[in-house]
Amino acid sequence: MQAQLRKLAAMLNALQTRIVAIAIFLAAVAGFSAAVGVFGYMSALDQLEQRGQSDLALASDRLTGELQRYRELAVLMADHPVVAATVMGNPDGAADLLRRTADKTGSLDILIVSGDGTELSSATDGDPIFHGALPYFERAKDGAMGVYHLVHDRYDQRTFLFAAPVFSEEGPVLGAVVVVVNVDAVEAVWRGANPTVFFTDDLGVTFISNRSELVFSARDVDVVPRTTSAEYSSEILKPFMTHSVSEWTGLPLWSVQDQPYVPETALHLSLSLPVIQMTGEALLNVAPARTLASLQAGVAAAICLAFGAMLFFATERRRTLAEANAQLESAVAERTVELSDINAQLRQEVSERIATEAQLTKAQSDLVQAGKLSALGEMSAGISHELNQPLMAIRSYAENAEAFLERGKTDVAGQNLSRIAELSRRMGRIIRNLRAFAKQESEGLTDVDLGGVISAVLEITEARTKASNVTIEWVPPARPIIVRGGEVRLQQVVLNLVSNAMDAMEGQSQPQRIEIDIDTVDGRVELYVRDSGPGLDEPDRIFDPFYSTKQVSQDGMGLGLSISYGLVQSFGGMIRGRNHPRGGAVFTVTLDPSNSAEVAA
Ligand code: ADP
Repeated sequence: MQAQLRKLAAMLNALQTRIVAIAIFLAAVAGFSAAVGVFGYMSALDQLEQRGQSDLALASDRLTGELQRYRELAVLMADHPVVAATVMGNPDGAADLLRRTADKTGSLDILIVSGDGTELSSATDGDPIFHGALPYFERAKDGAMGVYHLVHDRYDQRTFLFAAPVFSEEGPVLGAVVVVVNVDAVEAVWRGANPTVFFTDDLGVTFISNRSELVFSARDVDVVPRTTSAEYSSEILKPFMTHSVSEWTGLPLWSVQDQPYVPETALHLSLSLPVIQMTGEALLNVAPARTLASLQAGVAAAICLAFGAMLFFATERRRTLAEANAQLESAVAERTVELSDINAQLRQEVSERIATEAQLTKAQSDLVQAGKLSALGEMSAGISHELNQPLMAIRSYAENAEAFLERGKTDVAGQNLSRIAELSRRMGRIIRNLRAFAKQESEGLTDVDLGGVISAVLEITEARTKASNVTIEWVPPARPIIVRGGEVRLQQVVLNLVSNAMDAMEGQSQPQRIEIDIDTVDGRVELYVRDSGPGLDEPDRIFDPFYSTKQVSQDGMGLGLSISYGLVQSFGGMIRGRNHPRGGAVFTVTLDPSNSAEVAA
């Protein structure tokens, strides 16, 4: 439970860290893209200004170029002899000249004005006006080129006027030629073109523009009529477009209201045009620049976000892998601990088993000794009988030999003595067997002649077999059959089998028979001991320690077969007991043949 809570807390912590990192990243992206946007806007405005300057210069050039023609016309006309004659008081042919010239040059009107401002002749038929005191005429009278613009009552439209002085031959100014230009006609060519361009005079009134709505808009409507003498009647003047001005990197940006044909936000540029006494102004739409800048900012943000997302997913992937790895490692560590525990347990068990085995081996060797002692006891009766008999015979042979010697029958005495010698050899053999049997054998495995072992056992039991009338069916092999084992221990095993067979058949009326045979099966030596007794009561239990069905008189301890089992196993062999189908018990001892010895077929 606690571990789960800890895990949950760690997860929340990691989530919080991630959210903070993402927020910081987003803020950085926002800052970066804003910077890109600002920079883009600045450079776009820069470019816009350059383009606007040239556009404005171009528009101004076109206007001044157009007007220049009329200015030059005025100068040329001033030198015309008819004009000079008119100024001198002879207006013949003047009206005709003026009309033709006006038609050819597209001028609205051409006037010849006397030195006092009186109109002497004109191309049109309107009422003559008095030009005295009007600025253009004043300039012309001063011998300079008079330039002026106004809404003339006579023409009822915007006009541009160029007044050129007419000099007398002596020098003083006699009058002036005034060329009246129709502004509408000049303006018509570039109406509606981009950008928004307008030309304002020194009163702040927009006089010419490619946006007709702007014409006659005055920056200060109230000031104009008071400062000017005649140009505009206050009815035609209207307020200048409502706008606020802000600065952006030193460039004036106008926010214009309620002007359908003027950009809402525009860069304002101006150019002074002294030739026509006006200021050219242009309003450049900054919306494309803004769009471009926001596009650049958007692209920058998108790239940053894409990059960030890639980075995020890569980090997430690495984190997931690291977590999986950590889980795996902890699982491995847990499993290792478990395995170490199991290993320690196994070691403990192994050492316990080794100890138990040692105990068992000890118990087994004790039992072997006990078995030997019991066998010794068993044999002692037979042996004492066996030894007693030759001893009695030796005694009588000795006594006989003594008598024969007294009688001088040395040859018969010698026969008796040699019988004595043979009997004592036999006794010696019996005693040697007994000694070997009593001695605890602890040597390892050696090569043992199985046939010899069987003969030795039959010799030991000979007395009993004879007494009990047991037939031993045993044909000693022609050649030694050498097996791996311990001679005395093997004797003990065979003796036990033969003794058990005799015990089983004891007192039975049928012929008592023990068959002993040696065979070779699959390269191993097999010894069979079969009897004609009643067979095994419980074949499964015969090798159990202390299992015995024997009478008290037979002195059975139930250890003989279990000891034999252990001994044969220690030779690397095997012992089995079963009932023969035709009656009696049969025991099989399987042993390994000696490596060097030949095994009898
Ligand atoms: P013990 O001879 O002291 O009884 P063993 O271990 O030698 O102990 O024999 C165990 C038992 O196996 C015997 O008591 C007997 O019941 C049975 N047994 C062994 N050999 C034979 C045999 N040849 N025929 C019948 N029973 C046998």
